[in-house]
Amino acid sequence: MKLASFRYNGTDSVGVLSSDETKIYPFKDIKDMNEFIDECAGNSKILAETREKLVKLEADRNVGIPLSNVQLLAPIPVPKQDVICLGINYALHAQESAKFSADNFKIEKSYPVYFSKRVNEAVPHGGVIHIDENVVTALDYEVELAAIIGKDAKNVAPEDAYDYVFGYTILNDVTDRTAQTNHTQWYFGKSFDDFTPMGPYIVTEDCFERPPILKIQASVNDEIRQDATTDQLIYDLSYIISDLSAGMTLKAGTVIATGTPAGVGMGFKPPKFLKKGDKIVCTVEGIGSLENTIG
Ligand code: MG
Repeated sequence: MKLASFRYNGTDSVGVLSSDETKIYPFKDIKDMNEFIDECAGNSKILAETREKLVKLEADRNVGIPLSNVQLLAPIPVPKQDVICLGINYALHAQESAKFSADNFKIEKSYPVYFSKRVNEAVPHGGVIHIDENVVTALDYEVELAAIIGKDAKNVAPEDAYDYVFGYTILNDVTDRTAQTNHTQWYFGKSFDDFTPMGPYIVTEDCFERPPILKIQASVNDEIRQDATTDQLIYDLSYIISDLSAGMTLKAGTVIATGTPAGVGMGFKPPKFLKKGDKIVCTVEGIGSLENTIG
């Protein structure tokens, strides 16, 4: 199932998409996606019941809102906590990063690189990434498969990890390379306002293989820059969830961005950083495309 957050007639809602993605069926009495994830965490039958209801709703032509009439929001517009990110989690991206700045990116790969990203409000599909060019001087894109945790996870064995995944979305880990490298710690350069486009939907975990092996791409102004598959992850999601949950409880609603493949702007010589007017499209097989412009 594809789940979306959206605005319709001035009201923000959450709903499920028709299988042909032309309509959306709002959930009643659900305030936002975080609340829906919490409800599902407390009652494992809700997703199955939603799936059954969807079949009935799709049989009735008179219900549902045309998708063209709603304004899509990011699936989780305001995450409850900072997004957890993986750094240097595709081998070829590790190489291009080390060439750009050996001081900042040359990492002995014994353990995953974890960092986090502040998200005051995620940018939706179709939204603008606003920048101040006096502050942002090396703007870069990073397409990533993001997993959303569906129930509190603590001490999870790798073989059980996917039971804790609610679903997947696409996340663009937008970064100012100048701030990222000047400050050594990556948090600031990844956390500027509008640096987390997310969407267009959450696709529930049951729609994917375990692990999900998906094509992942990013293009800038229709030039394909990143083109990989998620089986190239150095640390896959089962490892990540097991490893993190050994130390910290991953709360329901946690967003984990699994890392980006090679082909980011800093990987080119000379680098191809983003500028105002550029269009970035991030695509993950089975989820869709997340399109944003720089403004
Ligand atoms: Mg990243």
